[in-house]
Amino acid sequence: MTSQAWLPVFRAIAAEIRATIPPLAGTPAAREEIGLGAGGDRTIYLDQLAEDIVVRHLEQAYRSGLRFRLISEELGERDFGGEPLVLADPLDGSFNAKMGLPYYAVVLAFTEGDRISDVRLGYVQNLVTGDEYHAIAGAGAFYRGEPLRPAPAAFDGRSIPLVQFDAPSGVEPRERAAPIFAHAEKVRQLGSAALNLCHTAAGGVALQVTPAPVRSFDLAGPLLILREAGGTATDFGGGSVDSVSVRLDARTTLLASLSRQIHAYALELLRVRVS
Ligand SMILES: [Mg+2]
Repeated sequence: MTSQAWLPVFRAIAAEIRATIPPLAGTPAAREEIGLGAGGDRTIYLDQLAEDIVVRHLEQAYRSGLRFRLISEELGERDFGGEPLVLADPLDGSFNAKMGLPYYAVVLAFTEGDRISDVRLGYVQNLVTGDEYHAIAGAGAFYRGEPLRPAPAAFDGRSIPLVQFDAPSGVEPRERAAPIFAHAEKVRQLGSAALNLCHTAAGGVALQVTPAPVRSFDLAGPLLILREAGGTATDFGGGSVDSVSVRLDARTTLLASLSRQIHAYALELLRVRVS
């Protein structure tokens, strides 16, 4: 089964989640906490609703002959009779959705192994705008179904136009990123790791900075989109993330940019500080 065969399945999932979640975002029901997901985050009502849609579509895909194993944020792993993995974060940026802030997405990936470099299809849809990003390994990145033509941010060799920062609360990750902040014109903390990487791939985010380890599961599909768009991603120390596991218990730091120069400059800023 080729990765392209999964694209219509992922699109059907995204369409139904998009019809279901945005009308509820920001409402009291949306904020209800109903347990703890397999990924360790609190499950809110919206997460569960979105995951139920994913599972229903995948049961249908199984009945039509597809064989795979699902890893999803709330339920963990479920066997659908095959080795390839389908990764699902049915609602990335669910805190934004809960609070009614319009920046959240459905994130899906198909992978032939359990490492980041094994991902064959990455799919992200902004559930508010409908903006769709996907990438097929070796065949490019796409925006709304057309080849993504990214516009790298202009870089003068000194200041980074827009830095997007992700970290759990606390001072320590901010301190680690401080040498980069000191050379950033603008800093954002938007709240959906997947959308942030899509905007990195499109060039709107000049540098994505994730100084404390986060779940690599959420990043796997979006990292393929960045890579196929021509971007660069490493961990915070400059090491490869290719062999990082995509399973729910694996974590990594991240430094990502469409521009090799900006990425190299950020690593240099961090090294200067360490020495
Ligand atoms: Mg989620």
